Amino acid sequence: MARVYVAGSINMDLVARAARHPRPGETVAGTHVAAYPGGKGANQAIAATRMGANTALLGKLGTDAFGDQLRDFLCGQGVRLDYLRQTSAAATGVALIVVAESGENSIVVVPGANALLEPDDLANVPIAAGDVVLSQFEIPLATIQQLFTRARAIGATTILNPAPAQRYAHEVLALADVLILNETELAFFVDIDPITASSPDAIAAAARRLRTRAEQIVVATLGAQGALAIIGEQQVHIAGHRVRAVDTTAAGDTFAGATAARLAEGYPLERALRDANAAAAICVQRSGAAPSIPTAAEVEALVSADPIRRRSGQSIVNSR
Ligand code: ADP
Repeated sequence: MARVYVAGSINMDLVARAARHPRPGETVAGTHVAAYPGGKGANQAIAATRMGANTALLGKLGTDAFGDQLRDFLCGQGVRLDYLRQTSAAATGVALIVVAESGENSIVVVPGANALLEPDDLANVPIAAGDVVLSQFEIPLATIQQLFTRARAIGATTILNPAPAQRYAHEVLALADVLILNETELAFFVDIDPITASSPDAIAAAARRLRTRAEQIVVATLGAQGALAIIGEQQVHIAGHRVRAVDTTAAGDTFAGATAARLAEGYPLERALRDANAAAAICVQRSGAAPSIPTAAEVEALVSADPIRRRSGQSIVNSR
């Protein structure tokens, strides 16, 4: 079976809870602290693995305690780590998150070793025709560019989740066979006001503008509204599942990872997106990042509970 390669970030998320945020120069006493594995690359690799795909994570950790903990954690999740690097030149990526009683977060992300993932680190990854290569924007653009160029020349499919959005990335966007991004990112890349892009027609128009060639597929994720895909001349809406969302952390990552897994299995695109939409709908009903990502069996149970989705490959089909 084809493989999934996820090139991306791996972080330790350190979450502290306190009554309020400290002012500059001030110290406040917190009430709880916990460390959670995170980073878009790690989350997406876990999502693809739980969907049943043979998935390798291509990334870089520090040679520190967090690096060792994250390696053990990912290994325990069944993610293949043959091409994961560790370096003493930087610390493992860390996100320092303070959650105040008001619910407001303040976050400092230090990319550390993630920023040192070089094109040469991935030169020996044995990508084959039919494999799927997935990446995001938490590692250097030059690394993604070289990996995607090689993957496409070999006949693999490239999927890019260009998050967090950043400028001067258009050359990399052009190397994706499939772009998966949320409404805010879409508005950023086509340089329009996010509010302007809120109706389905406006989103579709923005997605068409983002395409660098007619065969490129653009999938805009729309939160509770599901997702909208532009596939050639077609515009396909995959309606959101009606669920009670408690924590949307890793929803976009679950969507991207599940899509990659299904495409590696040989599913047609619309069925892959249907399953990704179901996987993300399960994710939002649970707390946390990695613990909230569902298995293939859970996704199949949700999809088969809905006869219309099961038959058509999507729910409300709105093709033009
Ligand atoms: P991100 O988390 O990257 O901002 P979205 O908010 O668009 O991305 O969510 C990604 C996917 O998660 C959506 O396309 C949808 O499948 C699912 N999703 C998100 N929020 C909900 C919700 N409230 N109800 C059902 N599905 C949801």
